[in-house]
Amino acid sequence: MNDELRTLWALNGLDERLVTLKAALERFPALRKSLEEQRLSGRARIEALKKDLTDFLAKRRQLEKDIEALVAEERKYQGQLPLVKKNEEYTALLHEIAGTKKRASDRETELLTLMDAEERRHAEKPALEKDLAALEAEAAQRLAAIADEEALDQARVDHVEAERAVLLASLGAGIKARYERIRVSKGGRAVVPILKGACGGCFRGQPPQVLQEARRGDRLLTCEGCGRLLIWPPDSPA
Ligand SMILES: [Zn+2]
Repeated sequence: MNDELRTLWALNGLDERLVTLKAALERFPALRKSLEEQRLSGRARIEALKKDLTDFLAKRRQLEKDIEALVAEERKYQGQLPLVKKNEEYTALLHEIAGTKKRASDRETELLTLMDAEERRHAEKPALEKDLAALEAEAAQRLAAIADEEALDQARVDHVEAERAVLLASLGAGIKARYERIRVSKGGRAVVPILKGACGGCFRGQPPQVLQEARRGDRLLTCEGCGRLLIWPPDSPA
């Protein structure tokens, strides 16, 4: 095998590793996103609780105001009782007083029910806060681990990129451009071995003349099927 073919073969080996390494790098954004989503859902549960407690407070304040107003109304009617002269006016006033009392009592019942519900919801807070703290701590830890892994994977990529730059620089301009063009159009794989007399990329059987030439390893051959560069693998018997 001549030097150019040897370089192409080595270059292709690096590029195949790069495809795998870069595919591995792509898992990181999704990992980060899922951690971020867990965090957000924990925060959303706390926010929902806070909103419920605010709503409870507003409803409670309103009921308390209503009750206060009803008590004041009843007191006003009670004050009018001794001043009333006519019987029917007296009866009407007693009727108003009873109605006001009933409304106040209904509001009191409502208030107690509300306060019960409020207390139960409030009791959920410590557990939710604890869950969130655990979630945040775990997320922070895992994000740090992910960052380390990613840096390591990126360093591997950088290392292979540097190696390939050296190999690429040693090729002539024409073959370099050709290699890169095929690599880009074939998903990172420009050079394929001939395996059992066929192209290792598209499995098209190669004519005997091509096989003979490939064995000699002195000339670059192209697969008519897929356009990749064909090389007789250096580690297989000639
Ligand atoms: Zn092919």
